Amino acid sequence: MTAGRDDLELTEVGPYIWALRLPIPWEDGHVNSFLLPDGKAVDVVDCGMKAEDSLELIHAAVARLGGPGGHVRRLVVTHIHPDHYGGAGELTRRSGAELYLHRLEVPMVHPRYMEIDQLVEEVGRYLLVHGVPEQEANFMKNASRGLRDFVTPAEPALPLEGTELLQLGKRRLRVEWTPGHSPGHVCLYDVDAGFLFSGDQLLPESSPNIGLHPQSTPNPLDDYLRGLARIVELAPALVLPAHGLPFADAAGRVEQMVDHHRRRKLGMLELLSNGEMNGWQVATAVWGMRSNLIDMRMALQEGLAHLQSLSVEGRVEKRASPAAVTWRRSS
Ligand SMILES: [Zn+2]
Repeated sequence: MTAGRDDLELTEVGPYIWALRLPIPWEDGHVNSFLLPDGKAVDVVDCGMKAEDSLELIHAAVARLGGPGGHVRRLVVTHIHPDHYGGAGELTRRSGAELYLHRLEVPMVHPRYMEIDQLVEEVGRYLLVHGVPEQEANFMKNASRGLRDFVTPAEPALPLEGTELLQLGKRRLRVEWTPGHSPGHVCLYDVDAGFLFSGDQLLPESSPNIGLHPQSTPNPLDDYLRGLARIVELAPALVLPAHGLPFADAAGRVEQMVDHHRRRKLGMLELLSNGEMNGWQVATAVWGMRSNLIDMRMALQEGLAHLQSLSVEGRVEKRASPAAVTWRRSS
């Protein structure tokens, strides 16, 4: 039914490595899924969201690469955001594929995509404590409810920790744990060809959202920057990102990201010269007030990640009570 469809955007990006572009309603409209065939068995890195047209594209690509009897054998998901993980439930159910996912992502699935009321309340309190006005906080805390439509959860056959060597297709991939964008985000490093499947950690066109929030690690920006340093150490020959086209100069792109965050932190320090502020005041000063409150929630969380990093360095004081958290320059 689908094997012959001609709208497949399936590109060979390395030996036995294929990139499949899948549609999503965010970013630049596409996420890359990577397919690694070995005979009839096809292993997959990231699977797009739960949507029939997206899942059909994967099945068509698997049929093309694996031939008659071609099937998905293993699915590795870099992190549980809907565009990477959303299709996992359907894909593993239909194909019997094994799911591999970092273990720090696993406990986030239930509160985020199944019974979400508790997390919504927690986020609501968090927004108020960081200075979001009540009306906006009420809207913003519910902003993620719709994401459930794009996800069917799946349990991992093997929870990952990092450093595992996985056989995917004909390639040997080492799991590199790179927290920050999400607590259990992983990259996969092809130890023979030097290719890096970077997920959202390193992208050619955009900077991934690094936010401090109730499900994040407690200092996500510095976690993220350590992950970037690890990538420089690996010195990959080619980066295969989840969004956009493959690129070669990993170190150059890392330098741009590091510089972006360093300047952002300096800007916030500057801002705090005017006195004590809460996270919402900082975010609206840095990014401006946007009509899209979902963007504002991301901006607040991203701003808090920078403030937290400044506080860990001792350049900012974080004053906290159950009612409010505020930030001021260290004297
Ligand atoms: Zn993501």
